[in-house]
Amino acid sequence: MSVLGKIIRTGRVAEPALPVPPVAGAAGAAGVRPAAPGPLAGSVQLRHIDAGSCNGCELEIGSAFGPVYDAERYGLRLVASPRHADALLVTGPVTRNMADPLRAVFDATPNPKRVVAVGDCAMNCGVFAGGHGVEGAVGDIVPVDVEIPGCPPTPEALIAALRGLTGR
Ligand code: SF4
Repeated sequence: MSVLGKIIRTGRVAEPALPVPPVAGAAGAAGVRPAAPGPLAGSVQLRHIDAGSCNGCELEIGSAFGPVYDAERYGLRLVASPRHADALLVTGPVTRNMADPLRAVFDATPNPKRVVAVGDCAMNCGVFAGGHGVEGAVGDIVPVDVEIPGCPPTPEALIAALRGLTGR
C-alpha cells in the first residue's frame, strides 16, 4: 500500500483537542501565577532557551509540538530568535554560564513579553539545587509569568499551560 493510502486509511492520529483552558492570569488557572498578565491575543511565538536542562524537558517540548499533540493548532509556534518572540520558554536550572545569555535574551524580546518556566528545575532548580555550576532558578534571573511543574512536564501539561497564553 502506498504511503498516501496508509494515511487515508489511518486518518488523523493527533490527540483530540481539549476544552479551552483558563487564560493566563485568571484566578486558579493551573500552572499560572495569579499575578500574571492576561493572554496574548490568538497566537504566541515562543523562543525556547535551554538554560542548563538535562534535555528531558526538551524531549517533551518536542513531543508537544509534534504531530500527535500538535501545539500549533492552538496558536503556539516556536521561533528562532527572541526578536520574533512574544514569550520565552525556559528550561533547566540556570547555570552560571547561561545567566547572562538569559538576561540578554530577555532584554532582546520585545514588550509585552511573557516568561514561561518549564519544569521543576526552572521553577526551583529541582534535582540540581545546590550544584556548583547552578546560578539559580529562572525566577532568580528574569521575571517569570507562568510556571509548569513536572520532571519533566507532560506534553498535555505543557499545552494546557501554554493555551492559557493564547486563550485558544
Ligand atoms: S525538570 Fe527534570 S527533565 Fe526537566 S531539566 Fe530538570 S531534571 Fe531534566
